[in-house]
Order: sequence, then C-alpha cells, then structure tokens
Amino acid sequence: MQISKNFVLHEFERSMVAERKNINNKAGSGEIKNITELCYNVLEKVRIKFDEKPVRILSGLRTLELNRAIGSSDNSQHISAKAVDFEIPKVSNLAVAIYISTYLSFDQLILEYWKNDSKDINQGWIHVSYDSEETNRKQVLTFDGKSYTNGLPDTKWSGGQLIN
Ligand SMILES: [Zn+2]
Repeated sequence: MQISKNFVLHEFERSMVAERKNINNKAGSGEIKNITELCYNVLEKVRIKFDEKPVRILSGLRTLELNRAIGSSDNSQHISAKAVDFEIPKVSNLAVAIYISTYLSFDQLILEYWKNDSKDINQGWIHVSYDSEETNRKQVLTFDGKSYTNGLPDTKWSGGQLIN
C-alpha cells in the first residue's frame, strides 16, 4: 500500500524481531493515518532536502507486543506509529537532524546512539515523531546509548565538509 510518493506501508510494519517471534505487526486505520502524517510532514520533506536519496526506515510501527519484545517503554510513540527511526545512507545523521529541528514541524526528535568523539557520519540513526501541528512539542534530544542531553551536538568541519 502506497502511503505517499516515496513510501509504502510495508516499510513501517517490517520488523526482524516480529518475523523471528511471529508477532503480528500490522497497522490499523489509526496507525496508517499517523504514518501518513509522518510521511507528508517529515519524511518526504527530508527526501527532497537530501537530493532524493533513499530514506531507510529502520523501525516504524511497533504493536505493544513487539514493543515489549524489544524491551522498549510502554509509552513509546512507535506503538501508535507516531514515531519512526530512519537514516539516509552516507548522509550525516546530524545534518538531517539539524534540518528537521530548524525547518520542520515535529513532536520529538532524538539523534540516537551518537558519540561525540566519532567521525563516522553514519553512526546511529534519527528518531522523530509527529503528533499534530497544534500539539507538537518540538523537543530535541541527543542520546549516546546511556543518557539524554538537550539539543544537538556541534557540527565539525574539515576541508569544507561536515565530518560528523
Ligand atoms: Zn524510535
């Protein structure tokens, strides 16, 4: 099922853990509506900004059963499909996070598994959620695998190129 120009529903339902544990991870109409909001308000805009490079969805919907199976909290926005984890291969997750935090409407943005001393532009991924234009909190956090800090890390440049 096509959700928007460049995204299909299956990308948001697909989960290796769900497959392995035989967990049903299918979206209902409410979840499909939330995924659609994410696609139109965030993911399609990100795709345009970063030269139409493919956006790789790592985790979208997680039914309560799946979310518990991977040890995530019961109040995760993935359960209602309001949140998505993604990356654009070979594009700095920090650059993508800066774009979202500056130009887009969103509820919560987390730069996940970020190490300040790493020069790997592919490290970690982006978690972003969308609630509604009226209720989005625009909360921005960085998570290093242990703790959360406010905002995003500083950019580092070398030879005119972003290196983190
Ligand atoms: Zn997430």
